[in-house]
Amino acid sequence: MRIALAKFGQETSSFSPVATTLDTFRLYGLYEGSEVLSRARGVGALGGFLDATASAQLQWTPVPLISAWAGASGVITADTLKFFEEKLIAGLQAAKPVDAFFFDLHGAGQAENEPDTEGHLLTISREILGDNVPIIIALDHHANLTQRMVDHADGLVAHRTQPHDPFDTGQLAGRMLIAQLRGEIKPTMAWQKIPMIAHQEQFLTSRGPMKEWFDLAREMETRPGVVSASTFPMQPWLDVPEGGWAATVVTNNDLALARKSAAELANKAWELREQFWTMDSISPEAAVRRAVQAERGVVILSDTGDSVFGGATGDSTTILAEMLRQEITQPALMTLVDPEVVEIAISAGIGSEISVKLGGKLDPHFGHPVDITAKVVQIGGGRLETVVIGLESFDMGRAVLLEAGNIMIVVSEARGVGGNHPIVYRHFGLEPANAKMLVVKTASNWQYYQEMTSEVIRVDTPGATMSRLHDFEWKHLPRPIYPLDELSEWAAD
Ligand SMILES: [Zn+2]
Repeated sequence: MRIALAKFGQETSSFSPVATTLDTFRLYGLYEGSEVLSRARGVGALGGFLDATASAQLQWTPVPLISAWAGASGVITADTLKFFEEKLIAGLQAAKPVDAFFFDLHGAGQAENEPDTEGHLLTISREILGDNVPIIIALDHHANLTQRMVDHADGLVAHRTQPHDPFDTGQLAGRMLIAQLRGEIKPTMAWQKIPMIAHQEQFLTSRGPMKEWFDLAREMETRPGVVSASTFPMQPWLDVPEGGWAATVVTNNDLALARKSAAELANKAWELREQFWTMDSISPEAAVRRAVQAERGVVILSDTGDSVFGGATGDSTTILAEMLRQEITQPALMTLVDPEVVEIAISAGIGSEISVKLGGKLDPHFGHPVDITAKVVQIGGGRLETVVIGLESFDMGRAVLLEAGNIMIVVSEARGVGGNHPIVYRHFGLEPANAKMLVVKTASNWQYYQEMTSEVIRVDTPGATMSRLHDFEWKHLPRPIYPLDELSEWAAD
Protein backbone atom coordinates (compact mmCIF):
# COMPACT_ATOMS: atom_id res chain seq x y z
CA MET A 1 0.00 0.00 0.00
CA ARG A 2 1.33 3.42 -0.98
CA ILE A 3 0.27 6.64 0.76
CA ALA A 4 1.35 10.05 -0.49
CA LEU A 5 2.25 12.58 2.22
CA ALA A 6 2.53 16.35 2.04
CA LYS A 7 2.48 19.32 4.36
CA PHE A 8 1.69 22.92 3.43
CA GLY A 9 1.01 25.58 5.98
CA GLN A 10 0.94 29.30 6.30
CA GLU A 11 -1.40 31.43 8.36
CA THR A 12 -2.18 34.69 6.64
CA SER A 13 -2.92 37.97 8.30
CA SER A 14 -4.53 39.97 5.50
CA PHE A 15 -3.54 43.09 7.43
CA SER A 16 0.17 42.32 7.66
CA PRO A 17 2.30 44.32 5.21
CA VAL A 18 5.01 41.60 4.99
CA ALA A 19 4.40 39.25 2.07
CA THR A 20 5.11 35.54 2.45
CA THR A 21 7.69 34.18 0.03
CA LEU A 22 9.67 30.98 -0.41
CA ASP A 23 12.28 32.49 1.92
CA THR A 24 9.64 32.67 4.66
CA PHE A 25 8.98 28.94 4.20
CA ARG A 26 12.72 28.22 4.35
CA LEU A 27 12.95 29.91 7.76
CA TYR A 28 10.47 27.46 9.29
CA GLY A 29 11.09 24.37 7.16
CA LEU A 30 10.91 23.52 3.47
CA TYR A 31 11.82 19.90 2.83
CA GLU A 32 11.51 17.42 0.01
CA GLY A 33 11.99 13.67 -0.42
CA SER A 34 13.21 11.61 2.53
CA GLU A 35 13.76 14.72 4.65
CA VAL A 36 9.97 15.16 4.77
CA LEU A 37 9.88 12.00 6.89
CA SER A 38 13.03 12.48 8.95
CA ARG A 39 11.96 15.97 10.00
CA ALA A 40 8.44 14.80 10.87
CA ARG A 41 9.25 11.97 13.27
CA GLY A 42 7.61 12.65 16.62
CA VAL A 43 6.48 16.18 15.77
CA GLY A 44 3.56 17.88 14.04
CA ALA A 45 0.53 16.34 12.35
CA LEU A 46 2.71 14.41 9.92
CA GLY A 47 4.58 12.92 12.88
CA GLY A 48 1.25 11.98 14.47
CA PHE A 49 0.12 10.37 11.22
CA LEU A 50 3.31 8.24 11.05
CA ASP A 51 2.76 7.24 14.67
CA ALA A 52 -0.84 6.16 13.96
CA THR A 53 0.24 3.92 11.07
CA ALA A 54 2.93 2.31 13.25
CA SER A 55 0.48 1.70 16.10
CA ALA A 56 -2.03 0.14 13.69
CA GLN A 57 0.76 -2.00 12.17
CA LEU A 58 -0.25 -0.80 8.74
CA GLN A 59 1.91 -2.27 6.02
CA TRP A 60 2.57 0.66 3.74
CA THR A 61 5.11 2.62 1.78
CA PRO A 62 5.25 6.34 2.47
CA VAL A 63 5.56 8.49 -0.65
CA PRO A 64 6.71 11.86 0.72
CA LEU A 65 6.09 14.79 -1.64
CA ILE A 66 6.92 18.05 0.09
CA SER A 67 6.82 19.59 3.55
CA ALA A 68 6.55 23.36 3.87
CA TRP A 69 5.61 25.56 6.79
CA ALA A 70 5.89 29.34 6.97
CA GLY A 71 4.36 30.31 10.30
CA ALA A 72 2.12 33.37 10.11
CA SER A 73 2.62 36.52 8.07
CA GLY A 74 1.11 38.51 5.21
CA VAL A 75 -0.35 37.18 1.97
CA ILE A 76 1.54 34.53 -0.02
CA THR A 77 2.97 35.80 -3.28
CA ALA A 78 1.61 34.32 -6.52
CA ASP A 79 5.06 32.94 -7.43
CA THR A 80 5.31 31.16 -4.10
CA LEU A 81 1.93 29.50 -4.50
CA LYS A 82 2.88 28.51 -8.05
CA PHE A 83 6.03 26.82 -6.72
CA PHE A 84 3.95 24.59 -4.41
CA GLU A 85 1.32 23.96 -7.05
CA GLU A 86 3.97 22.71 -9.47
CA LYS A 87 5.68 20.59 -6.80
CA LEU A 88 2.35 19.05 -5.84
CA ILE A 89 1.37 18.27 -9.43
CA ALA A 90 4.76 16.77 -10.29
CA GLY A 91 4.93 14.90 -6.98
CA LEU A 92 1.46 13.35 -7.20
CA GLN A 93 1.88 12.39 -10.84
CA ALA A 94 5.20 10.70 -10.12
CA ALA A 95 3.77 9.03 -7.03
CA LYS A 96 0.85 7.40 -8.83
CA PRO A 97 -0.58 4.89 -8.26
CA VAL A 98 -1.23 5.65 -4.63
CA ASP A 99 -3.89 4.22 -2.32
CA ALA A 100 -4.40 7.42 -0.33
CA PHE A 101 -3.14 10.94 0.28
CA PHE A 102 -2.60 12.52 3.69
CA PHE A 103 -2.27 16.29 3.46
CA ASP A 104 -1.23 18.24 6.55
CA LEU A 105 -2.58 21.78 6.05
CA HIS A 106 -3.01 24.89 8.12
CA GLY A 107 -6.15 26.13 6.37
CA ALA A 108 -5.85 29.91 6.63
CA GLY A 109 -3.47 30.64 3.77
CA GLN A 110 -4.36 33.48 1.42
CA ALA A 111 -2.31 34.19 -1.71
CA GLU A 112 -2.36 37.43 -3.65
CA ASN A 113 -4.05 35.62 -6.55
CA GLU A 114 -5.99 32.97 -4.59
CA PRO A 115 -7.94 33.61 -1.37
CA ASP A 116 -8.24 29.88 -0.63
CA THR A 117 -4.84 28.26 -1.19
CA GLU A 118 -5.77 24.98 0.49
CA GLY A 119 -9.01 24.64 -1.49
CA HIS A 120 -6.96 25.30 -4.60
CA LEU A 121 -4.29 22.69 -3.80
CA LEU A 122 -6.92 20.11 -2.82
CA THR A 123 -8.80 20.68 -6.08
CA ILE A 124 -5.58 20.02 -7.99
CA SER A 125 -4.90 16.92 -5.89
CA ARG A 126 -8.37 15.53 -6.54
CA GLU A 127 -8.06 16.14 -10.28
CA ILE A 128 -4.85 14.13 -10.37
CA LEU A 129 -5.88 11.34 -8.01
CA GLY A 130 -9.51 10.96 -9.08
CA ASP A 131 -12.55 10.34 -6.91
CA ASN A 132 -11.61 6.92 -5.62
CA VAL A 133 -8.37 7.71 -3.81
CA PRO A 134 -9.08 8.81 -0.22
CA ILE A 135 -7.75 12.24 0.72
CA ILE A 136 -7.67 12.94 4.45
CA ILE A 137 -6.52 16.30 5.77
CA ALA A 138 -5.35 17.70 9.09
CA LEU A 139 -6.13 21.34 9.82
CA ASP A 140 -5.45 24.03 12.36
CA HIS A 141 -8.80 24.92 13.92
CA HIS A 142 -8.09 28.57 13.07
CA ALA A 143 -8.50 27.55 9.43
CA ASN A 144 -11.06 29.18 7.20
CA LEU A 145 -13.01 26.21 5.96
CA THR A 146 -14.20 26.56 2.35
CA GLN A 147 -16.46 24.70 -0.02
CA ARG A 148 -13.56 23.37 -2.08
CA MET A 149 -11.76 22.04 1.00
CA VAL A 150 -14.84 20.10 2.06
CA ASP A 151 -15.61 18.95 -1.50
CA HIS A 152 -12.18 17.47 -2.14
CA ALA A 153 -11.34 15.88 1.20
CA ASP A 154 -12.93 12.59 2.27
CA GLY A 155 -12.49 13.52 5.90
CA LEU A 156 -10.71 16.00 8.12
CA VAL A 157 -9.56 16.49 11.67
CA ALA A 158 -8.75 19.89 13.23
CA HIS A 159 -6.72 20.66 16.33
CA ARG A 160 -8.65 20.10 19.54
CA THR A 161 -6.81 22.52 21.75
CA GLN A 162 -5.39 26.02 21.81
CA PRO A 163 -2.42 25.97 22.39
CA HIS A 164 -2.43 23.41 19.62
CA ASP A 165 -1.93 19.67 19.58
CA PRO A 166 -0.79 18.98 15.99
CA PHE A 167 0.68 15.56 16.79
CA ASP A 168 -2.67 14.36 18.18
CA THR A 169 -4.46 15.86 15.17
CA GLY A 170 -2.26 13.81 12.85
CA GLN A 171 -2.83 10.66 14.89
CA LEU A 172 -6.61 11.06 14.73
CA ALA A 173 -6.55 11.81 11.00
CA GLY A 174 -4.29 8.79 10.54
CA ARG A 175 -6.69 6.51 12.40
CA MET A 176 -9.57 7.80 10.26
CA LEU A 177 -7.70 7.05 7.05
CA ILE A 178 -6.57 3.61 8.23
CA ALA A 179 -10.15 2.70 9.16
CA GLN A 180 -11.28 3.85 5.73
CA LEU A 181 -8.54 1.89 3.94
CA ARG A 182 -9.42 -1.23 5.93
CA GLY A 183 -13.07 -0.86 4.96
CA GLU A 184 -14.18 -0.32 8.56
CA ILE A 185 -15.77 3.07 7.91
CA LYS A 186 -16.98 5.18 5.02
CA PRO A 187 -16.19 8.75 6.03
CA THR A 188 -19.16 10.99 5.23
CA MET A 189 -18.75 14.66 5.95
CA ALA A 190 -21.05 17.65 6.30
CA TRP A 191 -20.21 21.19 7.25
CA GLN A 192 -21.83 24.41 8.26
CA LYS A 193 -20.51 27.90 7.86
CA ILE A 194 -21.27 30.30 10.73
CA PRO A 195 -21.58 34.04 9.90
CA MET A 196 -19.35 35.28 12.70
CA ILE A 197 -15.83 36.22 13.65
CA ALA A 198 -14.35 36.93 17.07
CA HIS A 199 -11.15 38.37 18.43
CA GLN A 200 -8.49 36.11 19.95
CA GLU A 201 -9.05 36.82 23.62
CA GLN A 202 -11.38 33.89 24.29
CA PHE A 203 -9.47 31.47 22.06
CA LEU A 204 -8.00 29.28 24.82
CA THR A 205 -9.87 25.96 24.84
CA SER A 206 -9.25 25.39 28.55
CA ARG A 207 -11.86 27.86 29.72
CA GLY A 208 -14.85 30.01 28.83
CA PRO A 209 -17.01 29.77 25.73
CA MET A 210 -14.33 28.07 23.62
CA LYS A 211 -14.13 25.21 26.12
CA GLU A 212 -17.90 24.90 26.06
CA TRP A 213 -17.97 24.77 22.26
CA PHE A 214 -15.08 22.32 21.90
CA ASP A 215 -16.44 20.14 24.70
CA LEU A 216 -19.66 19.73 22.71
CA ALA A 217 -17.62 18.41 19.77
CA ARG A 218 -15.86 15.90 22.06
CA GLU A 219 -19.19 14.75 23.50
CA MET A 220 -20.58 14.43 19.99
CA GLU A 221 -17.75 12.05 19.08
CA THR A 222 -19.02 9.60 21.70
CA ARG A 223 -22.37 9.35 19.89
CA PRO A 224 -23.03 6.30 17.67
CA GLY A 225 -22.07 6.88 14.05
CA VAL A 226 -19.98 10.01 14.61
CA VAL A 227 -16.33 9.54 13.63
CA SER A 228 -14.98 13.04 14.21
CA ALA A 229 -16.27 16.54 14.93
CA SER A 230 -14.24 19.69 14.28
CA THR A 231 -14.91 23.24 15.38
CA PHE A 232 -13.31 26.13 13.49
CA PRO A 233 -13.07 29.52 15.20
CA MET A 234 -11.33 31.10 12.20
CA GLN A 235 -8.31 33.21 13.07
CA PRO A 236 -9.65 36.75 13.04
CA TRP A 237 -7.40 38.60 10.58
CA LEU A 238 -8.31 36.82 7.37
CA ASP A 239 -10.20 39.08 4.98
CA VAL A 240 -11.39 36.64 2.28
CA PRO A 241 -14.68 36.05 0.46
CA GLU A 242 -15.51 32.81 2.27
CA GLY A 243 -14.25 34.01 5.66
CA GLY A 244 -15.98 33.05 8.89
CA TRP A 245 -16.29 30.32 11.51
CA ALA A 246 -17.37 26.78 10.63
CA ALA A 247 -18.01 23.29 11.94
CA THR A 248 -17.65 19.89 10.30
CA VAL A 249 -18.75 16.43 11.31
CA VAL A 250 -17.56 13.18 9.78
CA THR A 251 -19.83 10.18 10.27
CA ASN A 252 -19.67 6.57 9.18
CA ASN A 253 -21.80 6.67 6.05
CA ASP A 254 -24.62 8.77 7.52
CA LEU A 255 -25.04 12.08 5.73
CA ALA A 256 -28.19 13.05 7.61
CA LEU A 257 -26.42 12.59 10.96
CA ALA A 258 -23.40 14.54 9.72
CA ARG A 259 -25.60 17.45 8.63
CA LYS A 260 -27.64 17.51 11.81
CA SER A 261 -24.52 17.35 13.98
CA ALA A 262 -22.67 20.10 12.06
CA ALA A 263 -25.77 22.30 12.43
CA GLU A 264 -25.85 21.63 16.18
CA LEU A 265 -22.21 22.72 16.53
CA ALA A 266 -22.84 25.83 14.45
CA ASN A 267 -25.89 26.82 16.47
CA LYS A 268 -23.92 26.37 19.69
CA ALA A 269 -21.23 28.81 18.52
CA TRP A 270 -23.90 31.31 17.53
CA GLU A 271 -25.57 30.98 20.93
CA LEU A 272 -22.23 31.79 22.62
CA ARG A 273 -21.35 34.67 20.27
CA GLU A 274 -21.49 37.48 22.81
CA GLN A 275 -19.29 35.56 25.26
CA PHE A 276 -16.63 35.14 22.56
CA TRP A 277 -16.42 38.93 22.47
CA THR A 278 -15.42 39.35 26.13
CA MET A 279 -12.23 41.40 26.16
CA ASP A 280 -9.54 40.65 28.79
CA SER A 281 -6.71 42.91 27.65
CA ILE A 282 -5.83 46.16 29.42
CA SER A 283 -3.98 49.30 28.33
CA PRO A 284 -0.15 49.22 28.03
CA GLU A 285 0.08 51.83 30.79
CA ALA A 286 -1.99 49.73 33.23
CA ALA A 287 -0.30 46.48 32.17
CA VAL A 288 3.27 47.67 32.79
CA ARG A 289 2.23 49.24 36.11
CA ARG A 290 0.62 45.97 37.21
CA ALA A 291 3.74 44.01 36.22
CA VAL A 292 5.94 46.41 38.21
CA GLN A 293 3.69 46.16 41.26
CA ALA A 294 3.34 42.37 41.12
CA GLU A 295 4.89 40.66 44.14
CA ARG A 296 6.96 38.33 42.04
CA GLY A 297 7.73 37.38 38.46
CA VAL A 298 7.68 36.18 35.89
CA VAL A 299 4.81 38.36 34.72
CA ILE A 300 3.99 37.61 31.09
CA LEU A 301 2.96 40.68 29.08
CA SER A 302 1.10 39.39 26.04
CA ASP A 303 1.53 41.79 23.11
CA THR A 304 -1.79 40.93 21.48
CA GLY A 305 -1.48 43.29 18.52
CA ASP A 306 1.95 41.98 17.54
CA SER A 307 1.44 38.21 17.62
CA VAL A 308 4.02 36.52 15.41
CA PHE A 309 1.85 33.38 15.53
CA GLY A 310 -0.99 35.44 14.09
CA GLY A 311 1.00 37.12 11.33
CA ALA A 312 2.15 40.42 12.81
CA THR A 313 5.65 41.75 12.21
CA GLY A 314 7.10 41.14 15.69
CA ASP A 315 8.63 44.61 15.85
CA SER A 316 6.00 46.57 17.75
CA THR A 317 7.52 48.92 20.31
CA THR A 318 4.32 49.84 22.14
CA ILE A 319 5.21 47.97 25.36
CA LEU A 320 8.90 48.95 25.19
CA ALA A 321 7.94 52.61 24.89
CA GLU A 322 5.68 52.28 27.92
CA MET A 323 8.44 50.60 29.98
CA LEU A 324 10.82 53.42 29.09
CA ARG A 325 8.18 56.02 29.90
CA GLN A 326 7.57 54.49 33.33
CA GLU A 327 11.34 54.11 33.86
CA ILE A 328 10.95 50.59 35.21
CA THR A 329 13.69 49.42 37.55
CA GLN A 330 13.03 45.68 37.35
CA PRO A 331 14.50 43.19 34.88
CA ALA A 332 12.43 42.87 31.72
CA LEU A 333 12.92 40.75 28.59
CA MET A 334 11.56 41.15 25.11
CA THR A 335 12.27 40.52 21.45
CA LEU A 336 12.06 42.82 18.45
CA VAL A 337 12.63 42.23 14.76
CA ASP A 338 14.96 44.82 13.24
CA PRO A 339 17.52 43.72 10.62
CA GLU A 340 19.02 47.23 10.43
CA VAL A 341 19.80 47.36 14.14
CA VAL A 342 21.22 43.81 14.04
CA GLU A 343 23.64 45.00 11.36
CA ILE A 344 24.57 48.13 13.32
CA ALA A 345 25.11 46.15 16.53
CA ILE A 346 27.26 43.48 14.86
CA SER A 347 29.36 46.14 13.16
CA ALA A 348 29.81 47.99 16.47
CA GLY A 349 30.81 44.78 18.24
CA ILE A 350 30.23 43.18 21.64
CA GLY A 351 30.64 45.63 24.53
CA SER A 352 29.99 48.75 22.50
CA GLU A 353 27.16 51.20 23.03
CA ILE A 354 24.83 52.08 20.17
CA SER A 355 22.16 54.77 19.83
CA VAL A 356 19.53 53.67 17.32
CA LYS A 357 15.96 53.92 16.21
CA LEU A 358 14.75 50.47 17.27
CA GLY A 359 11.80 48.47 15.91
CA GLY A 360 8.53 49.79 14.51
CA LYS A 361 9.77 49.85 10.92
CA LEU A 362 8.10 46.87 9.23
CA ASP A 363 4.48 47.87 9.55
CA PRO A 364 3.95 51.37 8.15
CA HIS A 365 0.41 51.49 9.51
CA PHE A 366 1.15 50.64 13.15
CA GLY A 367 4.94 51.00 13.56
CA HIS A 368 6.74 53.59 15.71
CA PRO A 369 10.53 53.23 16.14
CA VAL A 370 11.88 54.03 19.60
CA ASP A 371 15.06 56.08 20.14
CA ILE A 372 17.23 54.04 22.44
CA THR A 373 20.82 53.80 23.65
CA ALA A 374 21.86 50.25 24.44
CA LYS A 375 24.92 48.08 25.02
CA VAL A 376 25.64 45.20 22.65
CA VAL A 377 25.96 42.25 25.05
CA GLN A 378 26.13 39.29 22.68
CA ILE A 379 25.77 38.13 19.09
CA GLY A 380 23.85 34.93 18.23
CA GLY A 381 20.74 33.76 16.43
CA GLY A 382 20.47 31.45 13.44
CA ARG A 383 18.58 28.16 13.37
CA LEU A 384 17.52 27.04 16.84
CA GLU A 385 16.65 23.38 17.35
CA THR A 386 13.69 22.82 19.65
CA VAL A 387 10.17 21.49 19.32
CA VAL A 388 7.87 24.49 19.18
CA ILE A 389 4.35 24.79 17.75
CA GLY A 390 4.69 21.60 15.72
CA LEU A 391 8.11 22.49 14.28
CA GLU A 392 11.42 20.85 15.07
CA SER A 393 13.47 24.02 14.50
CA PHE A 394 13.17 27.60 13.28
CA ASP A 395 15.52 30.24 11.95
CA MET A 396 15.46 33.73 13.44
CA GLY A 397 18.33 35.02 11.29
CA ARG A 398 21.25 36.75 12.97
CA ALA A 399 20.39 38.16 16.39
CA VAL A 400 21.94 40.35 19.05
CA LEU A 401 21.27 40.80 22.75
CA LEU A 402 20.99 44.46 23.72
CA GLU A 403 20.93 45.87 27.24
CA ALA A 404 19.04 49.13 27.86
CA GLY A 405 19.02 49.73 31.60
CA ASN A 406 16.99 46.88 33.09
CA ILE A 407 15.55 45.86 29.76
CA MET A 408 17.23 43.06 27.81
CA ILE A 409 16.16 42.97 24.17
CA VAL A 410 16.85 40.17 21.69
CA VAL A 411 16.86 41.88 18.30
CA SER A 412 16.73 39.53 15.32
CA GLU A 413 16.66 39.71 11.53
CA ALA A 414 13.66 37.38 11.17
CA ARG A 415 10.69 36.83 13.43
CA GLY A 416 11.31 33.20 14.32
CA VAL A 417 8.90 32.56 17.19
CA GLY A 418 9.33 36.03 18.65
CA GLY A 419 10.29 35.55 22.30
CA ASN A 420 7.61 32.90 22.71
CA HIS A 421 10.05 30.12 23.66
CA PRO A 422 12.78 30.36 26.36
CA ILE A 423 15.41 29.06 23.92
CA VAL A 424 15.43 32.51 22.31
CA TYR A 425 16.93 33.89 25.56
CA ARG A 426 18.75 30.80 26.83
CA HIS A 427 20.88 30.50 23.74
CA PHE A 428 22.31 33.86 24.83
CA GLY A 429 22.88 32.45 28.34
CA LEU A 430 20.01 34.49 29.74
CA GLU A 431 17.55 32.73 32.07
CA PRO A 432 14.01 34.07 31.62
CA ALA A 433 12.97 32.73 35.05
CA ASN A 434 15.10 35.51 36.59
CA ALA A 435 13.15 38.31 34.89
CA LYS A 436 10.35 40.20 36.57
CA MET A 437 8.45 40.66 33.34
CA LEU A 438 8.65 39.22 29.87
CA VAL A 439 6.94 40.35 26.68
CA VAL A 440 5.58 37.55 24.48
CA LYS A 441 4.54 38.20 20.90
CA THR A 442 1.39 36.09 21.09
CA ALA A 443 -2.09 36.32 22.55
CA SER A 444 -2.33 32.66 23.61
CA ASN A 445 0.93 30.72 23.25
CA TRP A 446 2.83 31.35 26.49
CA GLN A 447 2.81 27.64 27.37
CA TYR A 448 6.58 27.32 27.07
CA TYR A 449 6.96 29.60 30.10
CA GLN A 450 4.29 27.90 32.14
CA GLU A 451 6.50 26.68 35.02
CA MET A 452 7.98 30.10 35.71
CA THR A 453 4.92 32.29 35.08
CA SER A 454 3.29 34.06 38.05
CA GLU A 455 0.70 35.96 36.03
CA VAL A 456 -0.32 36.60 32.43
CA ILE A 457 -1.49 40.07 31.43
CA ARG A 458 -2.97 40.54 27.99
CA VAL A 459 -2.04 43.98 26.71
CA ASP A 460 -4.38 45.83 24.38
CA THR A 461 -1.79 46.86 21.77
CA PRO A 462 -2.35 48.05 18.21
CA GLY A 463 -1.04 45.98 15.30
CA ALA A 464 -1.90 43.53 12.54
CA THR A 465 -3.22 41.03 15.12
CA MET A 466 -5.00 43.40 17.45
CA SER A 467 -8.20 42.36 19.15
CA ARG A 468 -10.04 45.47 17.98
CA LEU A 469 -11.35 43.86 14.79
CA HIS A 470 -13.80 46.67 14.12
CA ASP A 471 -10.83 48.97 13.45
CA PHE A 472 -9.61 47.03 10.40
CA GLU A 473 -10.76 47.97 6.94
CA TRP A 474 -12.59 44.79 5.90
CA LYS A 475 -13.04 44.45 2.13
CA HIS A 476 -13.77 40.82 1.30
CA LEU A 477 -15.54 39.11 4.20
CA PRO A 478 -19.04 37.90 3.30
CA ARG A 479 -21.61 40.26 4.81
CA PRO A 480 -23.59 40.47 6.95
CA ILE A 481 -21.34 38.96 9.59
CA TYR A 482 -21.47 39.17 13.39
CA PRO A 483 -20.50 41.50 14.99
CA LEU A 484 -19.42 43.86 12.19
CA ASP A 485 -23.04 44.08 11.05
CA GLU A 486 -26.42 44.09 12.72
CA LEU A 487 -27.09 40.38 12.71
CA SER A 488 -29.10 39.05 15.60
CA GLU A 489 -31.10 36.27 14.01
CA TRP A 490 -29.39 33.30 12.48
CA ALA A 491 -29.74 29.51 12.55
CA ALA A 492 -27.95 26.69 10.75
CA ASP A 493 -29.70 25.31 7.64
ZN1 LIG B 1 -4.07 28.05 15.13
